[in-house]
Amino acid sequence: MKIICIGRNYADHAKELNNEVPKVPVFFMKPENALVYDNKPVFYPDFTKDLQYETEIVVKISRLGKNIEERFASRYYEEIGIGIDFTARDLQRDCMKNGLPWEIAKSFDNSAPLGTFLPKSQFANIQNINFHLEINGERRQSGCTKDMIFSIDTLIAYVSQFNTLKTGDLIFTGTPVGVGPVQLDERLQAYIEGECLLDFRVK
Ligand code: MG
Repeated sequence: MKIICIGRNYADHAKELNNEVPKVPVFFMKPENALVYDNKPVFYPDFTKDLQYETEIVVKISRLGKNIEERFASRYYEEIGIGIDFTARDLQRDCMKNGLPWEIAKSFDNSAPLGTFLPKSQFANIQNINFHLEINGERRQSGCTKDMIFSIDTLIAYVSQFNTLKTGDLIFTGTPVGVGPVQLDERLQAYIEGECLLDFRVK
């Protein structure tokens, strides 16, 4: 399986990192070993001094597809979840400054803790889902899928031009404004519509 991550999909987040708002989706990938399941702890890596959370809605692909038309894209996923796209922001800044790819800043072990999935039938409108992150019980980041620059269906159509989507593949759909650093021993809890679906500590 593969993990596709969308960058800069919320205008206010692109601005907070001084990036331009993209005209087409930006994506990169994480390897399977980035995933952390079952609320297991995430270990702060030695290679960064600025590990940052990005709270993101995650779509689980439910059938094989290539060159999927946007109008049919909703047939390719049945479940919605939430995850963290952990980023070594200091390394990412260096990569960007030097015009290099982001992999070392984004695609490392344990960089993608993943919560419990919910059936999409639970939501009246996929493009109006509220989600948020609490750290030690304090709300740090809030978003709503209505603020996405590119909708989930647009993302699936775009990505599937380049990569065949397979059952079980995950799409991290981008983070809203409000990213920031985590510290050792902090407890992160991610919610969709007030329901806690991911709850882990940084060790
Ligand atoms: Mg992200």
